[in-house]
Amino acid sequence: MISDQMEWDSPMYAEAVAQFENVSEVMNLDDNVRERLKRPQRAMVVTFPFRRDDYKEVDTLFGYRVQHLLTMGPTKGGIRYAEDVNLGEVAALAMLMTWKCAIVGLPFGGAKGGVRVNPRGLSRSELQRVTRRYTAEIINFIGPEQDIPAPDLGTDEQVMAWMMDTYSQHAGHSVPGVVTGKPPELGGTIARREATGRGVISLLPSSASHVGMNVSGARVVIHGFGNVGRYAAIAATELGCSVIAVSDISGGVYNSNGLEIAKLGKWVDENGVVEGFGGGDVITQEELFALDCEVLVPAAVGGVLHADNASSVKARIVLEGANNPLTLDADEIIRDQGGFIVPDVLCNAGGVTVSYFEWVQDVQKYFWSENEIVGRLREIMSRAFQEVLAIAEDKKVDMRTAALIKGIKRVTDAKLVRGVYP
Ligand code: NAD
Repeated sequence: MISDQMEWDSPMYAEAVAQFENVSEVMNLDDNVRERLKRPQRAMVVTFPFRRDDYKEVDTLFGYRVQHLLTMGPTKGGIRYAEDVNLGEVAALAMLMTWKCAIVGLPFGGAKGGVRVNPRGLSRSELQRVTRRYTAEIINFIGPEQDIPAPDLGTDEQVMAWMMDTYSQHAGHSVPGVVTGKPPELGGTIARREATGRGVISLLPSSASHVGMNVSGARVVIHGFGNVGRYAAIAATELGCSVIAVSDISGGVYNSNGLEIAKLGKWVDENGVVEGFGGGDVITQEELFALDCEVLVPAAVGGVLHADNASSVKARIVLEGANNPLTLDADEIIRDQGGFIVPDVLCNAGGVTVSYFEWVQDVQKYFWSENEIVGRLREIMSRAFQEVLAIAEDKKVDMRTAALIKGIKRVTDAKLVRGVYP
């Protein structure tokens, strides 16, 4: 009898499994496959020394990399740097990545990684040392045919460039396909930076038409102004929406006439955070969630909408830019109030989709134009949305359940034809 106690047990992992179990019931999923998919295939914890710039202190840092499923091809998923990252969080996110890749039809299983460190407390050289040593610790488990990291919370193009360089130094030749989200000079793709935010907003017209709402003039509220939130704000403005509030870790800003996103972007580039931007009134995170608006885009961190604050949400459409921004309770409360939620596994899949394009271009050494990339991104996102909506209507389930049915079915079919080894 295998004990139910798992190394990766955590509230977030329990939530990911509960979500999976709920959908498995609806699908009447094969019991053997169900048990198998509940656990990550590989989960790695590393510890490593990290020397501060002052040459006095050497800290020991924790790093993680979890590969949830190796059935579909190489594994794929971001690396996050945050003070509270743990194995349970990374394992939950790796599972979500498996469904996400399957929902949009990419030939990857899910992975996720992280280092337990506050990136804002590091100098550039400290950040570089953390990245290179973490990469060296997991080097035998990553590679273009094996597992391909990408940026996530607290990591960016520069971090990916250092990961690619470290891996390449060990290989003895350049291996651009080992990570995605790299700078274009290193084999990164154009339009990757904007991909997740752009992908999120690309689903707004179909969502609006589904709920019978106009996109033009719609009031949009965005939580998080990092990679996802910022490009979602730009894309929403390009669609003719009015972005009335934005917040980040420092606080929020609200302007009922619409914020000037280009100016806010410039402010954040110069000052690092939204706080202090003069283009609107100061607003707290909880006030932001409760604003009168048509569209809410949570695009910062997980679990921000929960049983205690979800009923304050007035948005008609919630586009999940972040991973896991709603707890299962919040999801139910918002749907009961009539909100239409486009779940993370579908909504923010634009990032991994363009990461897939980047990997294909690196492997083929043949680069595409921006029009090709943006056109293919829109096509994949829109097709996935329509397929998920059709399942939701056919089975009379919500969009999250429908998306997961689609993803889990694809993975299950593949597992069953591959069989059990040996
Ligand atoms: P980022 O680090 O670029 O930006 C994060 C933003 O959230 C920043 O504005 C930060 O100030 C804010 N933030 C951080 N902690 C916060 C807190 N406790 N309260 C309020 N705001 C907080 O990260 P990102 O790449 O934009 O990722 C945001 C979310 O989207 C994450 O959940 C990530 O997993 C998810 N995601 C990212 C991508 C991608 O391509 N970058 C793809 C899919 C999903």
